Amino acid sequence: VFTTAATVADVVAGSFINEYLDEKGYKPEESYVDGGYISAEHLVESEAIGIKVIGPSYSASNWQSKVEGGIDIEDFQINWEKKYAECPGGKRSTVWREGERNNRAVIRVQFKRDDCMGCPLRAKCTRSETTGRSLSLREKEVHDIVVKSRLKSKEDATKLRYQIRSGIESAISQGVRGFGLRFNRYIGIEKTSLQHVLTAAAMNMQRLVSWWQCGQQPARQRPPVALKSFITALA
Ligand code: SF4
Repeated sequence: VFTTAATVADVVAGSFINEYLDEKGYKPEESYVDGGYISAEHLVESEAIGIKVIGPSYSASNWQSKVEGGIDIEDFQINWEKKYAECPGGKRSTVWREGERNNRAVIRVQFKRDDCMGCPLRAKCTRSETTGRSLSLREKEVHDIVVKSRLKSKEDATKLRYQIRSGIESAISQGVRGFGLRFNRYIGIEKTSLQHVLTAAAMNMQRLVSWWQCGQQPARQRPPVALKSFITALA
């Protein structure tokens, strides 16, 4: 159980959770998270300590990642030494500008307008009427990990394994619906944390009781949840 102030974003909590699990000796090989926990920094930090973060592809908020066949950042070949990108249409970028945004190194890459205007792939690549395709890249070390993560998240085997996440979501849902987890009974992080620990203990007790009782009365039939389908597919 890990309690933070409500203003702490999930994406920040990912690092705390890794450290916490590592300290306790429970460092996982794989961490199944929802999209809110994934950032380039979290992917890099986790990789450095040997944890594979698995979740919806990072930074998949651009329109190219949402349309069938859309040309996204992982479809470009980056030449880091000569400082250009090559697109699936075989064109090279003409601008490579290194800068900073929100205290992070960012490289802006731009393709020539004339190259993009006559390109047969344009509809899947850029909607700009006035400029060529542009990319916003992170430094090589970060870029490589982000691209690897995005390609991995698109694999069918990863999508199947990710269904295991439904077990975590159902535990959260049980806490929220059955134990009022969304409401604080107390003021202050220490007391709130105590409430969360007690809630988790109560949930464990209820699950144990259900486990012990299930042999004595017929279980209510429900449609299989994604986790059960996942386990059945593995069997
Ligand atoms: S639109 Fe431009 S960047 Fe995209 S594939 Fe065509 S030439 Fe390359």
